[in-house]
Amino acid sequence: MKSKVILLRYGEIFLKGRNKSYFEKLLIDNIKAKLSDIECEFVRTQNRYYIENYDESLTDEIVSRMKKVFGLHSLSIATKIRTDYDLLNEAALEYAPDINTTFRVTVNRADKSLDKNSAEIGADVGAYILQRRGGYKVDLRRPALEIKIDIREKGYSYVFSGVEECAGGMPVGCSGKGMLLLSGGFDSSVAGYRMARRGMQICAVHYHSFPYTSEQAKQKVIDLAEILTGYAGDIKLFVVPFTEIQFAIHEKCRADYMITIMRRIMIDIAERLALDNGAGALITGESLGQVASQTLQSLTVTNEAVGDLPVFRPLIGMDKYEIMKTAEEIGTYKLSELPYQDCCTVFLPKNPVIKPSVEIAKKEQARIEDLETLIETAIKNVEVIEIKAIK
Ligand code: ATP
Ligand code: MG
Repeated sequence: MKSKVILLRYGEIFLKGRNKSYFEKLLIDNIKAKLSDIECEFVRTQNRYYIENYDESLTDEIVSRMKKVFGLHSLSIATKIRTDYDLLNEAALEYAPDINTTFRVTVNRADKSLDKNSAEIGADVGAYILQRRGGYKVDLRRPALEIKIDIREKGYSYVFSGVEECAGGMPVGCSGKGMLLLSGGFDSSVAGYRMARRGMQICAVHYHSFPYTSEQAKQKVIDLAEILTGYAGDIKLFVVPFTEIQFAIHEKCRADYMITIMRRIMIDIAERLALDNGAGALITGESLGQVASQTLQSLTVTNEAVGDLPVFRPLIGMDKYEIMKTAEEIGTYKLSELPYQDCCTVFLPKNPVIKPSVEIAKKEQARIEDLETLIETAIKNVEVIEIKAIK
């Protein structure tokens, strides 16, 4: 018996204490969902998981999927063999490239029935490698290469070297559900990713001003949400028809307050949809000072339009450069870059207020006498798109 397996490690911190089994069940469910269309076996040991008995040509695919599961911290591709000293030597040698390097062999032995202890086995395997790799030197303290052998109880062992980083965070589902205000830009998708990484299940709302914003602009948001499902699981997307409301704002309100009021109405509608759909928080892609509508005063005025729910702004302290870098890493950059007009750029005033006041915003907003009806109509006509998780 000799086969490749993938060893998965999860974070230590959140799995301690009384909630361990709850977190672990979520994590395992999320891993299994990712592997639902791949024939393989999921094996659980004390503090690790292994994916075994899969078609080895799918190794890269499985690895790339596992790197999207929040709650996993690292993985290694390992070799599984029957516990036998000769087989251990051979398997370990495969992890020793023919270069000049310092190395050590580290053995962890759960099987206490063997006639040698961990240190002895490590020394033997090390000696075997030294005989065959002229450029190798043992360094127990700071080796450039560490080959690990994990000897399990039931007569088999794992051999591996090197660790690949996974996404970290907490398993999606352990932190409730958040309603993401999702536009086509760079920021909001990254914000959704960030909160999913803290364990939030995501649903999303997009404001669409047809025909001033195109079908393509809407499709772009659907596509962005689909990329997010790779990390966050299924996403329910609410597309809210926003044209009538924008007309009303344009017609009734002071030009420099138009964006401020638009944001207040957006967040108000988002909260209503959130409450109707079991979401306990709102999520936006705002970052302090990035544009006029994201100054401290603007954020204060937007916030004032929210009732009870907390608003999570995971990008608040990030630079645009850092946000774009994350967009690149998670795969949303290329889509976000496409130049379709968003509703914020329709009827854009020349000089939006940078330091709005709550008082003026409320007064201006009150000029739209039929606002409540407009909001209710928009919500009634919302288009619900269920986006199934991609792998
Ligand atoms: P983004 O890159 O996410 O579009 P931005 O830098 O363009 O952000 P704004 O346009 O000011 O910033 O939007 C701030 C936040 O408001 C966005 O991150 C998003 O959460 C929300 N938002 C903006 N436009 C829309 C929209 N059409 N539908 C839903 N949410 C929106
Ligand atoms: Mg935008």
